[in-house]
Amino acid sequence: MSSQRPSVPDATGHFGQFGGMFVPETLMAPLLELAEEYERARVDPEFQREFEDLLANYCGRPTPLYFAERWSEKMGGAKVYLKREDLLHTGAHKINNALGQALMARRLGKKRIIAETGAGQHGVATATVCARFGLDCTVYMGQVDMDRQASNVKRMHLLGAKVVPVTAGQATLKEAVSEALRDWTATVETTHYILGSALGSHPFPMMVRDFHRVIGVEARGQILAAEGRLPNLLVACVGGGSNAIGLFHPFLEDEEVRMVGVEAGGEGIVPERHAARFQGGKLGVLQGTKTWLLANEDGQIELTHSVSAGLDYAAIGPEHAYLKELGRVEYTYATDDEALAGFKELSETEGLIPALESSHAIAYVSKVAPNLPARDVIIANLSGRGDKDVDQACRFLLGE
Ligand SMILES: *Cc1c(COP(=O)(O)O)cnc(C)c1O
Repeated sequence: MSSQRPSVPDATGHFGQFGGMFVPETLMAPLLELAEEYERARVDPEFQREFEDLLANYCGRPTPLYFAERWSEKMGGAKVYLKREDLLHTGAHKINNALGQALMARRLGKKRIIAETGAGQHGVATATVCARFGLDCTVYMGQVDMDRQASNVKRMHLLGAKVVPVTAGQATLKEAVSEALRDWTATVETTHYILGSALGSHPFPMMVRDFHRVIGVEARGQILAAEGRLPNLLVACVGGGSNAIGLFHPFLEDEEVRMVGVEAGGEGIVPERHAARFQGGKLGVLQGTKTWLLANEDGQIELTHSVSAGLDYAAIGPEHAYLKELGRVEYTYATDDEALAGFKELSETEGLIPALESSHAIAYVSKVAPNLPARDVIIANLSGRGDKDVDQACRFLLGE
């Protein structure tokens, strides 16, 4: 397989027919500048050394690969390991990317940072690295998300970032991205846009993937040490797709390893009530990239819904569209109710309160693990911790 798969993306950011650079003329120059500088950075040992040093000593890598023994026994099937990205500084995988891009901003001599955020985790990660590097930070966030993720708004304020509410449209992540792109168009000379997932125009899907590959590289070494072999199945939730591609990518050449990405099924696969792009979605272009997205017959982007703000977006990262087309990765969904049940199960069985996003991966594991043989090994990415979701989960699960 390795000899047949072309190295992706190509020089213009295409993963097969997906990806690319669908942006206004004014953004072509900074994107090409970023792509060129990144090509230098990725082969610069000093850049990689500093990145790895900060991942270790500032962020807390490597994260453990934890055998969820009690949960596995209770399910009575496969052995389940959790990759503990929830233990990373700021509480989710997002800091891997924010840190890498802060180093890129410094290389580019840009002292002002903008970012979009949905659940607020990427905003917090970006505000954190901006404080660390003395960069001016502005985060765009939908008003609806600001209301449901108030504690993350407070964290960003405490870190010295400016949070700009976005009230247009559905007032969630898609509108926040549009505002960030509008800002960038006017400020490209001074500003770097730290995009938060493996999405958008080239080079973001590739660069963000590379900054998160450490998840899969570590997991691979850790499972070989623990079990003496590769896992049968990898599972991760998929919003834009950064935590999933970070886990999956270092295993893509290992044909015996199955991989499943879990999208947000919301209230079920009914238009406007979910965010599962591979269920009822179509090929289109949104915010810089050609990929699968949720749109109506006229090509208008549809409303989306998920209990987890971090999975509530109309488009999926282009490399996932490519891996689905190749048949290398399978994609499914978990509903809000299934994710909440997964949240409860992991909290009560293992003492780990997962992010509602990660709970979608947990829900899928609880569906399939009981039917797999005891010799099978699953690695699920626990992409973040649920501190930010405590109020929402109490409301839904305990009626509090
Ligand atoms: C943002 C977020 C996600 C979704 O983003 P991806 O780019 O798909 O990884 C998943 N889990 C957590 C904890 C998040 O904060």
